[in-house]
Amino acid sequence: MSIHIALIAHDRKKEEMVDFVIAYEHVLAGNQLYATGTTGQRIMDNTSLKVHRFMSGPMGGDQQIGALIAVNQMDLIVFLRDPLMAQPHEPDITALLRLADVHGIPVATNLATAELLIKALERGDFGWRELVEKHKPDLGPA
Ligand code: PGA
Repeated sequence: MSIHIALIAHDRKKEEMVDFVIAYEHVLAGNQLYATGTTGQRIMDNTSLKVHRFMSGPMGGDQQIGALIAVNQMDLIVFLRDPLMAQPHEPDITALLRLADVHGIPVATNLATAELLIKALERGDFGWRELVEKHKPDLGPA
């Protein structure tokens, strides 16, 4: 089974994200990984995982990941956000989390939940996501 996983960490959570991906590299490998720009770079610098990097969060990366959620192409989101620091792109963060709820996508916003979800992935609990109809991005009329 291979699912699409989005990895995002705010600046003061990036160390935590790096520790997480090192610890669970064996589970993450073999899935399709996506990340915001800096988070993705940090992951690739510290593991042998291949990550598709979008823009940095404040420059639109959250919105790019949100666009994939909107077409049901994202199966799991690990978003280690910083609850103690205001973010300039707060509306984008809210939009991403809202879309995850619209489409019923599992989201972890802290390490404890991230670990539970990754263990579920390891057990094969994400098989149901393969049954979900995935839509191609609708680019509108030609
Ligand atoms: P970054 O974006 O991975 O490019 O830092 C994440 C964020 O801060 O939203």
